[in-house]
Amino acid sequence: MVENKELIKVVEETVSRDDVKYVIGYKRGTYGFQIKPAFAYSAEDAKEFFYSPLCSKNLATYPLLEEKLPLRRGEEAEHKKIGIVVKGCDSRAIIQIIQEKGLEKEDVVLIGIPCKGVIDPKKIAKRFPKQSKFVDVEENNNDEYILEIGGTSHKIPKDELLSDVCKSCEYPNPPLYDILIGEAEEEFQPEHFNRVDELEEKTIEKRWEYWEKHFQNCIRCYACREACPLCYCKTCMADLLEPQWIRRSVNLSENTAWNVMRAFHLAGRCISCGECERSCPVNIPLMELNKFVEKEVKEMFDYTAGLDTEEKPFLGSFRPDDPEDFIS
Ligand code: SF4
Ligand code: SF4
Ligand code: SF4
Repeated sequence: MVENKELIKVVEETVSRDDVKYVIGYKRGTYGFQIKPAFAYSAEDAKEFFYSPLCSKNLATYPLLEEKLPLRRGEEAEHKKIGIVVKGCDSRAIIQIIQEKGLEKEDVVLIGIPCKGVIDPKKIAKRFPKQSKFVDVEENNNDEYILEIGGTSHKIPKDELLSDVCKSCEYPNPPLYDILIGEAEEEFQPEHFNRVDELEEKTIEKRWEYWEKHFQNCIRCYACREACPLCYCKTCMADLLEPQWIRRSVNLSENTAWNVMRAFHLAGRCISCGECERSCPVNIPLMELNKFVEKEVKEMFDYTAGLDTEEKPFLGSFRPDDPEDFIS
C-alpha cells in the first residue's frame, strides 16, 4: 500500500525541480467517495496529494487536455515537464500516447504507483449512498476494504467493490515510470476475457438482443469519450458535420453506430483502464466491447497496447505476414 507521506515527499521533490511545470495527482473530494484531480505548482500544493483505493480516475487524460490548447499568436509553448501519478493502466495510457506521438517521453515525469486495484465508484455509492462527508477507504491484508462511517467501521470483501476491469488486470505495476513509490505488486490472477467468452457463447441473435437492450439506453452524453485517455482527437468523428458520419439523433441505430465506431477507434489502443464503463451513467457494459476487440487484436495479430513506447501503433503498421483471410 502506498504511504501518503512518501507520495507527498516525492511530489514535493518533483515539483521543486527546475524542469517541471506542475504535478498531477489525486486529492480528497468534498463528499462521499469522490476524489478530485490535484495540480501541484509548488511544494506547498503537494501537501493535499493523496492515494487510496478510491483513486480510480485515469490521469493520463490531463497532459493532453491541459497542454495541447491552441496558442495565441506570439505565444510560445512552455517546454517544461509535467509530473503525473500513474497506476499500471495510467502508465500504459501514457506509453500508448507516446507511441502515437501525442506526447514525447521527455514531456513527462511519471510517478509510478504499484496498484492493488481500485474501487468502482458506482458500486461503493450504491452500497453506502448519500454520504455528505468525504469517506476514505483502506485495504487490509485479508482482501477487505475498511471504511469508517459515522464512528462505525465497515469491513467489506474486496471483491464486492473492486472495479470489474481490475479483476482481469495483467499490468498492475506501471510498465513505464521515472520514480516508483513502494514495492511492485504481485501480478493478479487474471480472469482476462471471461466477460467476452460468456457473450461469445450466445447465438448471434441473443448477442444482438443484448446490445440492442443496452445501446437503446445510450444518451450520447459522451462521458465515455471524455474520460478516456486515448480519445484525444481534436475533432471527434461524432462531432463532424461535414461529412456527417453519425447523426446526432439519439436512437438505436445512431447509438449503435457511435458505440461500434468508438470501439473500432480504440482497436489496439485501449489499455483496459475501465474509465469509459465506470463513467457511463446508464451502465452500458462498454468493457465487453473493448475487451472483445482487444481479444481479436491479440489473437490475430499478437499485439497488446500500451507496453512499449518504441513499438509502432497497431493501426499504423503492417507486417507482410499479417492475417488477411477475413478480408473478402
Ligand atoms: S486496471 Fe490494473 S492498474 Fe488499472 S486500476 Fe485496475 S488494477 Fe490498477
Ligand atoms: S457514456 Fe454511456 S450513455 Fe454516454 S455516450 Fe458513452 S455509452 Fe452513451
Ligand atoms: S476505451 Fe475505456 S478502457 Fe479503453 S482506454 Fe479508453 S477509457 Fe480506458
